[in-house]
Amino acid sequence: MHIVIIGGGPAGNMAASTAARLGAEVTLVEKDLLGGAAHLLDCIPSKAMVATGNALAAVGRARALGVELGDSEPRVDLYRLAQRIGDLTQGLSGTISAELASQGVRLVHGTGRVVDASHVVARLADGTEETIAADAVLVSTGSRPRLPEWAEIDAERVLSSREAYALAKLPSHIVIIGSGVTGVEFVHIFASMGCHVTLVASRRHVLPGKDPEVAYALEEVLVSSGVDILKGARACGLTTSESGVVVQIDDGRTVAGSHALLAIGSVPNSDGLGLESVGVKILDSGHVPIDDMGRTNVPTIYAAGDVTDKMPLSSLAAAQGRMIGRIVTGRPVTPIDYGAVAQAIFTEPEIADVGVAEADAFSQGRKIRVTKVPFSSNPKALIEAEPGGFVKILSDPLTAEVLGGSIVGAHAAELISVIALAVRSGLKVKDVVENLNVHPSLSESLADASE
Ligand SMILES: Cc1cc2nc3c(=O)[nH]c(=O)nc-3n(C[C@H](O)[C@H](O)[C@H](O)COP(=O)(O)OP(=O)(O)OC[C@H]3O[C@@H](n4cnc5c(N)ncnc54)[C@H](O)[C@@H]3O)c2cc1C
Repeated sequence: MHIVIIGGGPAGNMAASTAARLGAEVTLVEKDLLGGAAHLLDCIPSKAMVATGNALAAVGRARALGVELGDSEPRVDLYRLAQRIGDLTQGLSGTISAELASQGVRLVHGTGRVVDASHVVARLADGTEETIAADAVLVSTGSRPRLPEWAEIDAERVLSSREAYALAKLPSHIVIIGSGVTGVEFVHIFASMGCHVTLVASRRHVLPGKDPEVAYALEEVLVSSGVDILKGARACGLTTSESGVVVQIDDGRTVAGSHALLAIGSVPNSDGLGLESVGVKILDSGHVPIDDMGRTNVPTIYAAGDVTDKMPLSSLAAAQGRMIGRIVTGRPVTPIDYGAVAQAIFTEPEIADVGVAEADAFSQGRKIRVTKVPFSSNPKALIEAEPGGFVKILSDPLTAEVLGGSIVGAHAAELISVIALAVRSGLKVKDVVENLNVHPSLSESLADASE
């Protein structure tokens, strides 16, 4: 079995390493460094910026915990932060390269495209092409930020998430367009670093698609930390000058700032891969539809990660890659349960959820039991001076099966894994309640909220 993988992000790397470990011959075609946008441009750099913003907030909390600090306010050294991001991303990419090489994966540095159901062509840096025969092909080429036709990224005043890491100076007033996960994470990043932030949100609340109670909890914190939120505001134009930017809203309003950051979603990298010519179905959005086993409609061609029609998450991309690595080597797999994918938003407070959402259950007329406790009743949260937020558990009123949950508060991204395990394993509420947690710990709120 020879699998040829186009794209070395979490999906491609995990598929390569799994298939190689299980005995397949693996060729990985990557046009850039290994690690993908996930490691080099998106998840890791943005979370490194979040960590710096959180460290500043922790200084404020340290005062509340009785630590005496000097009078000078802490501030961010953007040069050192950019260096740290460079070290982190290059380091992680190097580790992945070394691991894959040690597993015998052949790396081809070039741009791949599919020429038929069993051949991939890689265009190398010197312009030559190599044709590689494959028993199976995996397309894991990821996505890129979506840009509107009315704005151009200049990497100085007008940014996408990918230009935000290399700013020489913090913006005095940044206008963030888009209130989805990426938008609110960057609102948190810049606000925590002391910038004036205006968030332009096209809907009535931030985080469209998320539990409104969660969204309101985040809005409250953002507003109390000085963020201006313009709701029901669809941006439709942007002009720049020497001194700043002006964003036009389609109802006639305008917002002026020093910088603008566009966070209006992503576009799958499915173009130029030759997929249509070999009969792979592509949706109007550019996404490649796959089944629960990662198969496209062409039997030898698989797809995984952001290029597909599933949720754009690094964790999911890696899980899909692992599954495909097992499938092509003839190992048994459990299809991915897309209803049990845990997701997090790295704001402060952190937000995480999994499984059935309350609003969706109500709109479907589905009966659910909702139980909730605030962290203000949790001793550990009080000790740490982080009493904001709550845990909400959704369960089936008849079977008591855990169906989902949302957490807003410190370490939500870590805590949600217990609920994710419960949802995926069909555990009952009593299993979570009777779990013997550490005291004092935030996990105690998971049991309390389930009761
Ligand atoms: C700002 C931001 C923050 C994020 N934070 C998180 C987070 O905290 N947690 C999380 O789970 N998800 C996060 N995501 C989502 C995550 O980045 C993606 O889901 C993840 O990158 C998808 O992995 P992938 O393997 O599909 O693609 P990618 O990571 O995009 O990798 C695709 C690879 O394919 C290569 N490639 C593309 N075309 C070709 C070609 N023709 N030939 C050869 N190589 C090619 C690219 O160079 C790239 O290396 C974030 C996204 C953004 C925008």
